[in-house]
Amino acid sequence: MLERLTYKGHPVPYIAAWSGERLPQPGIVTAADGIAFKGAVAANGNAQGRDPNGVLWQRWALRQGDGKPEYSVVHGPRQRRAMRKLLCQVCGGASDHDAQGHLWLLEDYRGVAGWPEREVTTHPPVCNWCAPVAARLCPHLENKVVAVRAGEVVVDGVHGNLYERGRGPLPVVKEKKKVVFTSDWRVKWMLANQLAATLTNVTIVDLPGVGAREGAAA
Ligand SMILES: [Zn+2]
Repeated sequence: MLERLTYKGHPVPYIAAWSGERLPQPGIVTAADGIAFKGAVAANGNAQGRDPNGVLWQRWALRQGDGKPEYSVVHGPRQRRAMRKLLCQVCGGASDHDAQGHLWLLEDYRGVAGWPEREVTTHPPVCNWCAPVAARLCPHLENKVVAVRAGEVVVDGVHGNLYERGRGPLPVVKEKKKVVFTSDWRVKWMLANQLAATLTNVTIVDLPGVGAREGAAA
């Protein structure tokens, strides 16, 4: 468990962006094999600067705490670090783990057959200490939060704006925020910001610490 960052007395999630971390984003152009940042197309027409999976990533500065928190904006590099290392999305420390797996908070779809097995999420796990805070701070969880433990987590997708090949000399573009699996050819048409994970071997559990006082001594 780490100390949570606060702003004016309110906790600021580890994955939230701060205003001082915004960078100018280059324009997007169509390359031979997907999208590229403007000025980053090789002589053969292929895009440069994508990752080994072919994904282009939104640019961010790493200056957590600089400026004002933007609670509704996810800082890509911290979200991805949290997903890869299964860190708590609120404090950035280790997420809670027991014999049933890591602790995640999901939007409640218990009416859907088979849910939550194979749920795909962009929201990193949480620790016990932060679970009540996350349930309160995350707008998508309001009044419909379910805690689960996932025995297996596979980080297999990217989330961002998916572009489509345009007809003209200029790009594209249909902005649609969505998850594309890295096995899908369309990852080369994604300006991504977040990683997505597929949760399997999932068990619904009680939400830890409900009613626990914010900031209570650990
Ligand atoms: Zn935490």
